[in-house]
Amino acid sequence: MKFTIITLFPNLIKSYISESIIKRAIEKNKVDIEIVDLRNYTNYSHNQVDDYQFGGGKGMVLMVEPIVNAIEKYKTNESLVILTSPQGKTWNQKLSKNYANNCKHIIIICGHYEGFDERVLDYVDLEVSIGDYVLTGGELASLVLVDSITRLIDGVIQNESHLNESFENNLLDYSVYTKPVDFRGKVVPEVLLSGHHANIEKFRHESRLKNTYLKRPDLLNEQELSKTDKEFLNNLKNRKEE
Ligand code: SAM
Repeated sequence: MKFTIITLFPNLIKSYISESIIKRAIEKNKVDIEIVDLRNYTNYSHNQVDDYQFGGGKGMVLMVEPIVNAIEKYKTNESLVILTSPQGKTWNQKLSKNYANNCKHIIIICGHYEGFDERVLDYVDLEVSIGDYVLTGGELASLVLVDSITRLIDGVIQNESHLNESFENNLLDYSVYTKPVDFRGKVVPEVLLSGHHANIEKFRHESRLKNTYLKRPDLLNEQELSKTDKEFLNNLKNRKEE
């Protein structure tokens, strides 16, 4: 998978991708991340990429030409062009998975200032938001996309790690514990120390149901539950109401 990130702040991207799992994915040739400085694609003097908005109002607007020049330079017939924007479709694990499995090249455009000249939208495939809040620039959003997709690419992290991960089958992950067994009287559930694999599996499945019910009950509407799962959740509900 190749990512091309078009940005006014290449160093912000460089610093994040030079650490941790993304760094290892690059070293293992699982991903290639190309960072493009938008200022190199302007036809205006002094590397100008933004200007005042027509109609008046505060804040500079990124011009359409440098962005389209950069897209056209890097786009191939395998590319998906994503514009980061608070007005876009909200990013989620399903989209990450879909693009990790089906995409070869993603171009991500990072905005800044007041955003983009509206005409940029005619040159992108998808407008993506990472949540209902406004960031200063698209760099964090682009890194969220790159990170969430990269870790799902085959061979980047162990496949097993994804099996019970949050949002897999519309459930959250189960609760996990490590040393010490007793922290100020808060003790690790005994079953996890028993070595009894079937009981541990049962505990973990119920923990996924419980976490989802308590923290993201909306996800349960999307999930087909077995009779046993429904009984477990009903008991949980009754206990909560007592
Ligand atoms: N004026 C724009 C609006 O209110 O819709 C916001 C512009 S914002 C200050 C500057 C840039 O940050 C955007 O063009 C976009 O690239 C990025 N950005 C801000 N919030 C974002 C979000 N929630 N998701 C993705 N990108 C975001």
